[in-house]
Amino acid sequence: MSSEPLLQGPRIFRPTTANLARLAALLRRGELVGVPSETVYGLAADALNPAACAKIFAAKGRPTTDPLIVHLASAADLDRVARSNPAALALAAAFWPGPLTLVLPKLAVVPDLVSAGLPTVAVRVPAHPVFRRLIRLAGRPLAAPSANSFGYISPTSAAHVRDGLTGTSLRAVLDGGECLVGLESTIVDLTDPAKARLLRPGGLDAAAIERVLGQKLVRPHRKTISVGVAAPAPGMLSRHYSPRTPLVLHKRLDVRDAVKLASNDACLLLRKPAPADLRHLPPGTLRRLRWLSERGELTEMAKNLFATLRVLDGEGWTRIHAAQVPGGEGLAPAINDRLKRAAAKG
Ligand code: AMP
Ligand code: MG
Repeated sequence: MSSEPLLQGPRIFRPTTANLARLAALLRRGELVGVPSETVYGLAADALNPAACAKIFAAKGRPTTDPLIVHLASAADLDRVARSNPAALALAAAFWPGPLTLVLPKLAVVPDLVSAGLPTVAVRVPAHPVFRRLIRLAGRPLAAPSANSFGYISPTSAAHVRDGLTGTSLRAVLDGGECLVGLESTIVDLTDPAKARLLRPGGLDAAAIERVLGQKLVRPHRKTISVGVAAPAPGMLSRHYSPRTPLVLHKRLDVRDAVKLASNDACLLLRKPAPADLRHLPPGTLRRLRWLSERGELTEMAKNLFATLRVLDGEGWTRIHAAQVPGGEGLAPAINDRLKRAAAKG
């Protein structure tokens, strides 16, 4: 038997009406499809079909202790999978479609595999119109974690998905362009609405959520959790989103620091240095420099973070040095969370 189809990798489909119908049919048959979203690309399967969802865990090499997010076409479908409450409905009205995931008590139709055996389910309505059209056409909620092998940098383009999941059972990726947010969703646990908990900082600013709720989000202590250890709060692994090249995280880093680094180390700056700073660099320094934004805007840094880490990871550097975003505003906590976990050892 030839192994050629595996080596070819999944095919990338443009979001035409005919292609959407074809991919929706694949999903209904229990197959996987790579999907675009505003956060990162997802690896989708019929959320109500445990055999289909099992393929997600197998393709990613994801432990079954790490539950999946269920994606809906509309907030009106929330009652099909979860038991909502007034706080959840208020957040849904304010932020869906968008990069906010709500954890709520689950209904029995949601397979235990999806929730990793928990009595709760994570739910979101994505903002990418093509993803929502596909959910509608499939006619069922779609479970979808990021479309990368477990622990590696999340994908923000269809090509990232193809490159990362070649050799798995994934056959098709829907191309919806580059992800506009570039970070995973913010996850809020509303199982007890009086004590809303921020499980993961993400593409939606936690302060905006607190304003709508009229309460502070409880931030659970993140203990160091490693793969294979039963995790009280699932998915909070300390190492995640990681390039294969060791990432060294600094409190701050500028173009002057780059000059002092070892000659085969790369330097990821938060923003483009001033032209005067770039003009007089020692030979060979400029090619070791990358930046996440032109103007120092957090949204631009978030959008470029994963793609830039991937580029650097493919260039053969000994180490990648990166800096944390100063301040705790807007997307800064989410960017710093991803950087910290990308740099974590175990
Ligand atoms: P992702 O890997 O981006 O799909 O995000 C999935 C993450 O959502 C998991 O790793 C968990 O952190 C979180 N999650 C999903 N379902 C639940 C749940 N029922 N309770 C708590 N956290 C959840
Ligand atoms: Mg992920």
